[in-house]
Amino acid sequence: MQGKPLIYLDSAATSQKPRQVIDTLHDYYARENANIHRGTYYLSQAATDAFELARHKVRIFLNAAHDEEIVFVRGATEAINLVAAGFSATQIGPGDEIVLSVMEHHANIVPWQLQAVSRGAVLRIVPMQPDGDLSVAAFDELLSPRTKLVALAHVSNALGTIHPIASIIQKAHARDIPVLVDGCQAVPHLQVDVQALDADFYAFSGHKVFAPTGIGVLYGKKEWLEKLPPYQGGGDMIERVTFEKTTFRRAPGKFEAGTPHIAGAIGLGAALDYVASVGHERIAAYEAQLRDYAREKLSAISGITLIGHPAKQVSVLSFTVENAHPHDVGTLLDARGISIRAGHHCCQPLMRHLGISGTNRASLAFYNTAEEIDLLAENLPGIVQLFAN
Ligand code: PMP
Repeated sequence: MQGKPLIYLDSAATSQKPRQVIDTLHDYYARENANIHRGTYYLSQAATDAFELARHKVRIFLNAAHDEEIVFVRGATEAINLVAAGFSATQIGPGDEIVLSVMEHHANIVPWQLQAVSRGAVLRIVPMQPDGDLSVAAFDELLSPRTKLVALAHVSNALGTIHPIASIIQKAHARDIPVLVDGCQAVPHLQVDVQALDADFYAFSGHKVFAPTGIGVLYGKKEWLEKLPPYQGGGDMIERVTFEKTTFRRAPGKFEAGTPHIAGAIGLGAALDYVASVGHERIAAYEAQLRDYAREKLSAISGITLIGHPAKQVSVLSFTVENAHPHDVGTLLDARGISIRAGHHCCQPLMRHLGISGTNRASLAFYNTAEEIDLLAENLPGIVQLFAN
């Protein structure tokens, strides 16, 4: 890139894909491509089997209790919109409260806001501490008899904070409040067990966990998925249609209207196989080392400020360069072959809270190396100099 080796430090935006995933997509289209759930012929059955096997692999990956608790969607955004629409239609009325945090991605704010506006409900926002940790005491105080749902990221995409999601869920459940977890930034780094967490809903996007774009997952407890109405209408989600009335399939079918991203789901299965073969413990240990190394290197550069130092953090580091706009820093690093993210990271309320327009963010995956961190650290002092008064 730019005549230099490419250094990709933006895996929180989307991950690079292992060969196993690319080969699986190729093989699917070359050998098994057909529409699912409707063919009476071999190829359609093969595609259906592969698609449903992918659902099973997601269940194993999340340790869900049933394959039927796994809904394939376009991504975390669609998963959250699906729950926001169905939950609000059936459970939310005027004056009810939905609890979010100040660190949420827009995908876990705007769907709730749209519903809150139409239902007369209120969003209550959990603040954070200066180190980037969620303010748990404030969370405790925000829960009220009007709270109908807590929707929280497992891991912050902007700061890398790992939230104490298990204890949050426990506290919410003690008051009979269900919890939706936005797991987008958790699944590439952490072993997730939705049963151990007792999450009611858990959403993630395939493309952040080494799978293709356009495929994602909504995990929902069986009883919740049965309770929620369909999100979209169309083919494949019905039992029987007349002009007077339609009856729907049980979950997950009733949430999967139309032809899904069959290849994407199968590719996601291959990606999860790949993650399992590397091993979550090895991934976590390696990434923790890399994160600590990067933190040490970046904090030694004068003119660079690391944003937040949460108690538990994945390998995502946000920083600012004195006097510089993050976009300028991103562009200058790009010219040196280094891809990092610059801007508000779809977290404008968080940036407003921090009093900055944005940050630069280096997000590391297990395919990154200490040498790449060295190159980032070697290039930054020259960039800092360009903005020094
Ligand atoms: N939540 C978080 C925490 C994210 O990081 C992202 C993606 N940046 C999303 C939700 C939305 O994911 P997608 O755009 O893949 O639907």
